[in-house]
Order: sequence, then structure tokens, then C-alpha cells
Amino acid sequence: MGKGNIELAGVAKRYGDTVAVAGVNLKIPDGAYCCFLGPSGCGKTTILRMIAGHEDPSDGEILIGGEDTAGLPPVKRRTAMMFQSYALFPHLSVRDNVAFGLRVRGQSSQDRRNAADAMLEKVRLSELADRLPGQLSGGQQQRVALARAAIMEPRVLLLDEPLSALDEQLRLQMRTELRRMQQDLGITFVHVTHTQMEAIALADLVVVMEKGRIRQAGGARDVYGAPQDRYVAEFLGGQNVLSGKVEQVNGASILVSAPSMKGIHVPLPEKRHVANGDRVDLAVRRDHIHLARPGAAPAAGMTNALGARVLAVEYQGNFVKVVLEAGQDSEFVAYVAEREFYADPFDVGDMALATWSTEESRLLA
Ligand code: ADP
Ligand code: MG
Repeated sequence: MGKGNIELAGVAKRYGDTVAVAGVNLKIPDGAYCCFLGPSGCGKTTILRMIAGHEDPSDGEILIGGEDTAGLPPVKRRTAMMFQSYALFPHLSVRDNVAFGLRVRGQSSQDRRNAADAMLEKVRLSELADRLPGQLSGGQQQRVALARAAIMEPRVLLLDEPLSALDEQLRLQMRTELRRMQQDLGITFVHVTHTQMEAIALADLVVVMEKGRIRQAGGARDVYGAPQDRYVAEFLGGQNVLSGKVEQVNGASILVSAPSMKGIHVPLPEKRHVANGDRVDLAVRRDHIHLARPGAAPAAGMTNALGARVLAVEYQGNFVKVVLEAGQDSEFVAYVAEREFYADPFDVGDMALATWSTEESRLLA
């Protein structure tokens, strides 16, 4: 029995002149929860369909469990696909929907029934076994679809935007449940989404895509907290991205000037070479900004400071989003913890001093 580790080696897919996937290299470990994250049209579904065997790559190889899948039909891959629409049989009971795939394998009806009941218990649907899909909520239907896929004991479960049909509250609930199911089943999940927070909440491995290519792949905290380039920083969100010019190189850090700010201290990553006058992009997390009144003594270690007018204040529940005016047409945003903000709240039009330490600036590729 092969394992569920997946390797994509130089995988590309072209449809006529359209390049859907443009040379993807990736290793997904066995038992990982992997999310492909990217805007609509970036090639996510095409990658899933190639792993499932519904499409053949134009170039490259896909290995599952170390085995080249070229020419291997979908049923031989031991992958299962769960669709956004769930595709349940409306005239079959929940139990019969779940047992359906086993019929093809020629198991006796008693064996199928026992296996389906065991699986229904796992997804906590035992009480609903005799209902029809039309008598279930969206979340329950999704659990049936998951159970129907899992009963085939796939080594890889492929999920294409599985939560997008659900309303917000249910989506968050099912998200937690998907993760729990993945851990219970112990198999590899490959989940495709265009929702940043979904990928970050679920995945061991987040793969950020743009136009058929991988821009960054890593742990959730890596891609969110340490984006490599402007695209990833802006797509994942939560960052201020500034463009500037290198003014000084001082060993392990550099000084950058941006239109709205004279000297921004930024750590220089090892092996990265920059020279005076180079254009660079840098990012600062919005939730790492400290706001103070102008003239207040800066807190210790706050090497960077931007004095700016408050353009907008938005209450977000557990934090407050404060938008500052940072030069022409550009904004600088601070996420301030609720308690901290209301201890001395800023109003629109106030001047504020946004400060952060050198380490909180990140040079982007
Ligand atoms: P995503 O799932 O990220 O939204 P897709 O993988 O569905 O993106 O599509 C990637 C690109 O490939 C899009 O430009 C899409 O129009 C194109 N594409 C996908 N499937 C086909 C097809 N069967 N024929 C032609 N073009 C396709
Ligand atoms: Mg898609």
C-alpha cells in the first residue's frame, strides 16, 4: 500500500495557447494538510485534476507514494475528489450514499452497510443515516460527501473549494471539522481555496500561486509572517508594503528612504546584496505597529517612525484598524489591540506617530 506523499516535478498544463499551469515543482509529505491558495484562474483546479488523473500534464511528472502516475487511470491512483457541490445522490439515503463506492468493489451488502455505519459514526452522522440528502443542512451534506470519499480509503483526498458554498458561520465550523477529519483519517489532504484565512487556518503547507506558478510554499506562519515578495505580502494581507531606495548599507542592516519616510531601518538578509540607490520593496506587519501621540517619547527599540494624519478608524472587534496617510495615494495601516486603542483613542484628523523596530521591517525579493 503506497503512501500519500505527492511530488510534482516540472508539471505544466497548456490548453491551446492558454497556460493553466506553468512548471510547478512541489513535494507534499504523506499525511500533510496542503492548501493551494491563489486568485481565480491561477491553475488550482487544474493541478487537482492532474493529481486525480482527470487531466494529463503537458509536461512533467506527478508521483504519488513515489510512483509515477503517468498513464495510471483515476481509479488506480487511490485518490478521492470532493467537489464543492458535494454531488450526492438525491434518491439514496445517507447510508447508501456513503456505501455507494463499495458496491463497485463487489462487497456484500452487509459488509457495505457495516463499513458505512462505522464511517458515519466517525463523521458524527449516525442519527441521520436514513435521511435523504435533501433533508440535511449544507454542513451535514458536506460531512456525507467527506464520508463517501473516505470510505474508499484513499491515500489522498482532493478538495476543490469545499467550503465556498457555505455561509460564514458554517464555513468556520466546517473548517475546524475538516482539519479534525484529516487528523483522524491520517491521510494527505490537498485543498484548493482562494480564501487566505482558510488556507492559513488549515494547512501544514500553504502553496501560494499566481498565474500557474508557485510564488511561495511553506508553513502558514512563514507565508503570512515572512512573505518573500510583494505579491505574496499583498495577497496574504496584513502587511504594509513600501517601495523605497537604499540610502546606506551598514553590514546587517540597511537604511531605505520611501516617499513618505526618510530613513527606514531594515535588516539585510544573509546572502542578499544591495547597493546604494537600489530600488527595494519592504513589508511591515500591520499588527506590529505601535501608535503614539506626536512628541511622545518613543518606546525602547522603536528605530522607525512615521508621523502621519489619521484617515480612518475602523472597529474590528478584537482590534482597531487605523489608516494613516502616507504620502500621495498611499496608506499605512496599523492594527491596534482593542484595549490599547481605547486607552487613548485616535480620531480621524489627529496626527499620530507610527513606530516599529528594525526587526519588524522585512526586505522583500
Ligand atoms: P482556478 O481553479 O485557480 O480558478 P483553473 O485551474 O480552473 O483555475 O484554470 C486555470 C486556467 O486554465 C484558466 O485560465 C482557465 O480558463 C484555463 N482552463 C482550465 N480548464 C480549461 C479547459 N478545459 N480548456 C481551456 N482552458 C482551461
Ligand atoms: Mg478552481
